[in-house]
Amino acid sequence: MPLRSTVLRRRVRIRLRGIVQGVGFRPFVHNLAKELKLGGYVLNSSAGLVAEVEGDTDAVERFIRAVTEQPPPLAWVQESECSEMDVLGEESFAIHPSEAVTGEFALISPDIATCADCRSDVADPSNRRFGYPFTNCTNCGPRYTIILDIPYDRPKTTMAGFTMCAACRAEYQDPRNRRFHAQPNACPQCGPSLLASDPLPQARRRLAAGEILAIKGLGGFHLACDARNRDAVGRLRERKRRSDKPFALMARDLAAIEEVCEVSDADRAALAGPSSPIVILPRKAGAALPEAIAPGNRTIGIMLPYTPLHHLLFAGAPYALLVMTSGNLSEEPIVVSNREAQQRLAGVADWFLPHNRDIFMRVDDSVVRTFEGTERVMRRSRGYAPLTMDLGRAVPELLACGGELKNAFCLTKGRHAILSQHIGDLENYETLVFFEETLANLKKLFRVEPRAVAYDLHPLYLSSKYALEIPSLPKVGVQHHHAHIASCMAENGLNGQAIGVAFDGSGYGSDGAVWGGEFLVAGYAGFERRAHFRYVPLAGGDTAVREPWRSALGYLVDLGGAGAFACQALANVPEERVRVVRRMIEKGVNTVRTSSCGRLFDAVASIVGLRQAVTFEGQAAIELEMAAQDGVAERYPFGIDGDGPWELDFRPMMERLVSDTAGGVTAGAVSARFHNTLVEAIAETCRRIRGETGLDRVCLSGGTFQNMRLLSTVTPALRTAGFEVVLHAKVPPNDGGIALGQAAIAAELLK
Ligand code: ZN
Ligand code: ZN
Ligand code: FE
Repeated sequence: MPLRSTVLRRRVRIRLRGIVQGVGFRPFVHNLAKELKLGGYVLNSSAGLVAEVEGDTDAVERFIRAVTEQPPPLAWVQESECSEMDVLGEESFAIHPSEAVTGEFALISPDIATCADCRSDVADPSNRRFGYPFTNCTNCGPRYTIILDIPYDRPKTTMAGFTMCAACRAEYQDPRNRRFHAQPNACPQCGPSLLASDPLPQARRRLAAGEILAIKGLGGFHLACDARNRDAVGRLRERKRRSDKPFALMARDLAAIEEVCEVSDADRAALAGPSSPIVILPRKAGAALPEAIAPGNRTIGIMLPYTPLHHLLFAGAPYALLVMTSGNLSEEPIVVSNREAQQRLAGVADWFLPHNRDIFMRVDDSVVRTFEGTERVMRRSRGYAPLTMDLGRAVPELLACGGELKNAFCLTKGRHAILSQHIGDLENYETLVFFEETLANLKKLFRVEPRAVAYDLHPLYLSSKYALEIPSLPKVGVQHHHAHIASCMAENGLNGQAIGVAFDGSGYGSDGAVWGGEFLVAGYAGFERRAHFRYVPLAGGDTAVREPWRSALGYLVDLGGAGAFACQALANVPEERVRVVRRMIEKGVNTVRTSSCGRLFDAVASIVGLRQAVTFEGQAAIELEMAAQDGVAERYPFGIDGDGPWELDFRPMMERLVSDTAGGVTAGAVSARFHNTLVEAIAETCRRIRGETGLDRVCLSGGTFQNMRLLSTVTPALRTAGFEVVLHAKVPPNDGGIALGQAAIAAELLK
């Protein structure tokens, strides 16, 4: 019936945006078009994926539905645009070369853990990629770490220097092949290689013998050793000059993880997912692991192998668990180049396992935990960056510089918020350079030219100084806790106003004090501080953060009364030092006023005798959380005073807490009562704010909400009180998330 087919022939052009490149979209479209007997073409442009198809009307309709509703597994279609075209009578279907469109951009896929098919290729002795550490396909492998520019094609990656052999090229050109247009496609004949003699057997032998290895991975070097070897773990901690911060582990497989940790279904999904993050899991009682892996911690951060090299390191090896910590010295950025590794890690590693595929972007391992069946990102990096968030409307192009600790910055483009990978603590030159490198790269990849800059109000943050030194752009200063709440709102697509509970270690307050126990009524355009922890004096600047007893002393001075000072906390500190700091507080020398929740945790951890000095941020709070005993229902009294903003007065609690400790109540029981008190303080304050404003939506943000005991009790308590509780998931609740909030606020103010 030639007449009918002529009449019902149709041609459309479809443009897709989202994650549509480097995820096997073109072969998918090609195969679909063939199956439906459609003519036309498909291509990647810097603006996304473009296809024109023509053929039978029904077939065209089915094509449109399939590409938008059932795209390939790693793809994410955010927008699709379809326009009718003149029928050309084209019968054949082709894949056209990529096109660069000036000023246009496409989203870039994060790096993806090795897929099951590639894993079996590597494990199969009859496969030409048997034992090949750089095996990948369109469904897996490096992306963000190797991309220099868009459109995403091999010449614009760090694979440009490797010329595909005939066999690889044939796969690359065959639309039915899993490696069709897989840009990093490679094999032992033509691809990257490990740079050592007999590399894998030697690496396995050395790890088994207790040596520390510097291993080049996907986003940087790791330092690795056998996690069950007490000596090796101890040596690594010593040489890396790394405080007591927990080391991450990598396990051969899920069974090896289940041997040492409690794993829920949600945890299993996170571990085995394409992002393959470090998942924080409860350690099983009696798990045979050296204490030095995570001193004083009841949880372990653990991940599965995510590159073929990792899988091969475990193949046939006697160990099932490796320490896999970032290859860096204390707080510097992760090392990426072979030369940098030789220079910086020489004193740490016994042996190096480098390779010759360059890492263009430094990307650390991401850290997540699950809560209420949902994955919650704590450190957003490999496997997540540079995924974007939808701002709900197009906004001007902006740069938000983020905070100081756990820095990540944010760019905006159209409706997209592009949150950078975890940069780290902006306290040294190397980290600032990493910040600048990443900023330059993301601006280029996403074609962003910022029209304004948002920054934290803290005048001493390097990120704020950086922002203020950018010439001739409008600047928007954003209060730290407002940014936390706006970040939670933006991530969840909220508009209007919400009650914001922002608890953290510190943030520069609008009144110049150090804030951190804040109840806001916030929208993007502004906020009102409705309640906060009563200010206490804190002496010693940065030292105060390292010595929790100084927080305790601040609370005790505020409490007054000689009895308070006789407590255990201060008995562990030389009397002379206590006297000096007390005098500093009384005279107001080098003393700030703070409503910080982090310092309240420090004070309690000190008073119950858990810890008087810390080696990393949040250590005392983590130990206090870990110490808390289960099954304790009591709580302490507290006050909510004043007529705006209300002041949460914890003096009644402190008084009881001191006498409990003196009376021999265990740290575990006191900690549990303290946590219960905070839960009730949050719920009661929110009820009062609702009474005045009618708002019943509560956003919880700030580093304190990484405390699972607090989060898992306050969330149901608020729900029982009739609140809708809004939490972070894709964006960290800590300072790694504030850039998103800064961007959302700046976008609103510049409207
Ligand atoms: Zn694969
Ligand atoms: Zn090859
Ligand atoms: Fe914060």
